[in-house]
Amino acid sequence: YFSCKMIPVSLSKSEKRIVILMHDITKEHELNEMRKEFVSNVSHELRTPLTSIHGYAETLLNDPDIDPETRQRFLSIIENEAARMTRLINDLLDLERLESGEARFEFQPVDLCSVIKYVLSIVEPLAVQYGVKVEYSCQDIVLEADQDRLIQMLVNLVDNAVKYTSLKETGEKQVKVSAKLQDESVVIKVEDTGPGIPKNALERIFDRFYRVDKGRSRKMGGAGLGLSIVKTIVDRHNGKIYVESEVGVGTTFTVVLPVKQGERKDENVRYHQK
Ligand code: ADP
Repeated sequence: YFSCKMIPVSLSKSEKRIVILMHDITKEHELNEMRKEFVSNVSHELRTPLTSIHGYAETLLNDPDIDPETRQRFLSIIENEAARMTRLINDLLDLERLESGEARFEFQPVDLCSVIKYVLSIVEPLAVQYGVKVEYSCQDIVLEADQDRLIQMLVNLVDNAVKYTSLKETGEKQVKVSAKLQDESVVIKVEDTGPGIPKNALERIFDRFYRVDKGRSRKMGGAGLGLSIVKTIVDRHNGKIYVESEVGVGTTFTVVLPVKQGERKDENVRYHQK
């Protein structure tokens, strides 16, 4: 993209020239497009629950004779949708703080097995509700990490694995979490026997708001921000994340984190410069 300006210049009475100024504005254009897309995504994500809250509240107000059971059902939809909006806003704010480097990370020695057990205890009620079996295996590992962020990252991955695996209609519904030491790194795997992710979608799943199946994911409460948060947390730990998937067979997320974080004089500044 270029912006173009033509300036007539008179060199003498008879001699006239035109100076053409071309300015490369590709970057500005791209940023502008990204901003527009972001605003449209956020508005859309907020509008959906709002429309539903509005609709059910209106019905309740206009029909005083509604039976108690229906009333209860409508109220619980309103409550769920409001909770979804809160989650979306919290995730957005958190992502912004993570990406701008504003969120400070406290690196401390963390016992990985305890973290994994804790994460599974958080996800267990959901797994029981959805009939998904969750297993884990881990080596005794202590790594330098921000414990709360590590938990947040793993909860997102395991929660996704359970949620999406529950959508599979037939076959085994199983999620396996494992951690082992390999050279100077920790390799954490979250494997599931869920519906899998199509090849063409794999490279986009870490993008903000990207969902393979919007309807299905929204039904599960997601706005497509979870994996963006996961990716940023992995980055801030100087780690890497990989995904392998086969449709109808399952998905495996592999997170590789360094055991030690090395020298960091001012972690936030360094992150800004990335
Ligand atoms: P969401 O809030 O929609 O779950 P995420 O950013 O966590 O958003 O994930 C992005 C998309 O990647 C999801 O909408 C889903 O389509 C896909 N996805 C993530 N994890 C899995 C998984 N374990 N199995 C199948 N699809 C997955």
